[in-house]
Amino acid sequence: MALTIMPKIIVVDDDEIVGNLTLDLVTGMGIDAELIQESLSAMAAIKAKQPELVILDILMPGIDGLTLCHQIKSDPATQNIKVVMVSGKAFAEEIDRAKQYGASLLIKKPYDVMTFGQQIKALLGGPQPKYDDVKPMLREFTPPQESVMSGAVWGCRSLSPHTTSMNSHYGFQTSCLSLEIGSSLLVFDGGTGIISLGGQLASRPDLKELWLFLTHFHQDHVQGLAFLPCLRQEGFTVNIAGANDPDKPLEQLVKECFERYPATVKDPFVADIQLYAMQEESYEMLPGISVTSFYANHPSTTLGFLIEAQGRKFVYCPDSELYGDTATALQDYDEKLGGIVGGADLLVHNGRFTDSDYRSRMNNGHTSFVTAVDFAARHKAKRLLLWHHDDQYSDETLDKIGDQAVEMAFKKGYSVECLMARAGLKFSL
Ligand SMILES: [Zn+2]
Repeated sequence: MALTIMPKIIVVDDDEIVGNLTLDLVTGMGIDAELIQESLSAMAAIKAKQPELVILDILMPGIDGLTLCHQIKSDPATQNIKVVMVSGKAFAEEIDRAKQYGASLLIKKPYDVMTFGQQIKALLGGPQPKYDDVKPMLREFTPPQESVMSGAVWGCRSLSPHTTSMNSHYGFQTSCLSLEIGSSLLVFDGGTGIISLGGQLASRPDLKELWLFLTHFHQDHVQGLAFLPCLRQEGFTVNIAGANDPDKPLEQLVKECFERYPATVKDPFVADIQLYAMQEESYEMLPGISVTSFYANHPSTTLGFLIEAQGRKFVYCPDSELYGDTATALQDYDEKLGGIVGGADLLVHNGRFTDSDYRSRMNNGHTSFVTAVDFAARHKAKRLLLWHHDDQYSDETLDKIGDQAVEMAFKKGYSVECLMARAGLKFSL
């Protein structure tokens, strides 16, 4: 499938997490991009690669962003390259200097993800590749006649240990899913996907509260947490539910998530943050909505969640290793989870690996998609959203997994609808 010509962007940011977030945002728009963390080597790379646009962090060791901007704009070999500065502080003086050195724009961190994308696109100009150009038809779940729950996927990848410049219509954002039931907003996990969700919430001033359910504290499920804008919104209530760890209470775990990113999170949290330590129990947390938490088979204390409202059943269990055919007599996890999943309108579960890759990655807390499809069908789930795609898998591999899941369900006579999660996917139940 032919892509339209892709403009290239170079991101220069010494902070690995923020740099990769910026990179994800850009590549998520289908734009080819690269991250450079060493500001001293940036100028040579920019000269050699001649990108259309450079995104520079202001505060960097080595060469700071403003100096780098000045160099780019005063060298004839690079002066036509557009420069965007990003900064945690945006004092008038810095904005003036950025302008004076020829930067097109100064964007304040943390980003408003929606406007960030629009601003970058506007600067690049010309037609941008749309996801639809990459894969002409993406399947959706069949919606119910009457919708009780409506959901959206904000991130569904596993954590990438290194920078990737691959484009993906599945996105590289890590776990986050939102579910709306009536006027209640439930959010599952705080991976980098939550930053895009937070940006959307900014346009809903009526919303004053959300419930955040954290499965566990592996980085790909919490790394976006501190960037959630409503934490800095006066009068907003953020209820965070998760499990205590054997040696750390939930409060400490959440605190550590917030403290891990001090460089970029300058503004204090003024929202009302309420914590709910959960075990294996059912709670009526919101009127008419029942929440059941259960332990999932995954390294570290990990929860899954069953949400029930008006006869609909939604299960979020992204990090979980099903044993399938390989189960020994002592491994009864599949049966236990099956009891919870039974008849679910939607099961969100990882099918991270192909069958052959799974064999070399057993006992790491993830599942092959073949086992996930069999499991969902056996327990009469109506829909299965395959989650937690391996960061090393190309779109071609993921497309193939999605096709094989559908084909396998068809051949075996399963009625479960199987769909690969992708950032931006919406569904209703
Ligand atoms: Zn995990």
